[in-house]
Amino acid sequence: MAVLDVEGLRTYYKTLRGDVKAVDGVSFRVEKGEATGIAGESGCGKTTLALSILRLLPSGGKIVEGKVVFDGTSLGDLTNEQLRKKVRWKGISLVFQGAMNAFNPVYKVGEQIVEAIRIHEPDVSKKDAWQRAGDLFELVGIERGRADNYPHEFSGGMKQRALIAMALALNPKMLIADEPGTALDVIVQAQVLKLMRELKEKLGLSMILISHDLSILAETCDKMAIMYAGKVVEYGSVYEVFKEPLHPYTQGLVGAFPRLKGPRTKLSSVPGSPPDLLNPPAGCHFHPRCPFAMDVCKKEEPPLIQVGSKDHYVACWLYPGK
Ligand code: SF4
Repeated sequence: MAVLDVEGLRTYYKTLRGDVKAVDGVSFRVEKGEATGIAGESGCGKTTLALSILRLLPSGGKIVEGKVVFDGTSLGDLTNEQLRKKVRWKGISLVFQGAMNAFNPVYKVGEQIVEAIRIHEPDVSKKDAWQRAGDLFELVGIERGRADNYPHEFSGGMKQRALIAMALALNPKMLIADEPGTALDVIVQAQVLKLMRELKEKLGLSMILISHDLSILAETCDKMAIMYAGKVVEYGSVYEVFKEPLHPYTQGLVGAFPRLKGPRTKLSSVPGSPPDLLNPPAGCHFHPRCPFAMDVCKKEEPPLIQVGSKDHYVACWLYPGK
């Protein structure tokens, strides 16, 4: 059974100029112990999708349609209080973007983890919560004594690890990490990703990783969803999506990704820029940038269909489907 099932989710931001359709009919599933990557350019709706799952949208943001089922419970049926007590942190934990600024600079890192534990589990004593914070530090590869340090005493990689430790404080079933490698150099980034893979195996965690960097998702995830203008345009196993990208947008993203093996080839790029989500183009939203655009693409929106016999889906009129 899927741990998370997202069906037809639409999240709009109300503005004076109209609705910004940040997430526009997204469906996907995450199986137990599986990592799903969400990729796409900045502004395609990846972060709004994560915030919508936990109903943590900023003011103006509203889920207008769709369903999120986590561990058999429809999250839309829960009150905000029930969601806070039962799901956020205990069921699904979110690692926000920007590890560098995530901790309060005037409190010790351990204190902040202890506070998170005791807010959700008031019966846990301070001593036991410190013990748990130390255990979590060891789990993510930091000496337990460093829990007594202030955030400015940590390097960027240590802050990211500590943030992951804090997210695991209540033993969640699912971790959502938004741009986990941002602002880290490639070596530290590789160490953090290795840690995430190890945690997934060790704890049986299900994960959603959000990134504009396909290499991060390729290394860490089992499945991948490519988002464009608030929609999933391709979905499948990481292997399938990389081996045989079907959607012209995915082909552009994969073509811009350097390969270590095979003959040297020129890197490609996706021409143009993402559309204004207040007023996206009719039909396939990608048509103004697509080298294969046909008449039908400008008028009708392609549905996400399964292609071939594989667990591989694409939303593009180039493919007739099964
Ligand atoms: Fe290009 Fe048409 Fe496919 Fe959209 S539906 S990606 S415009 S070929």
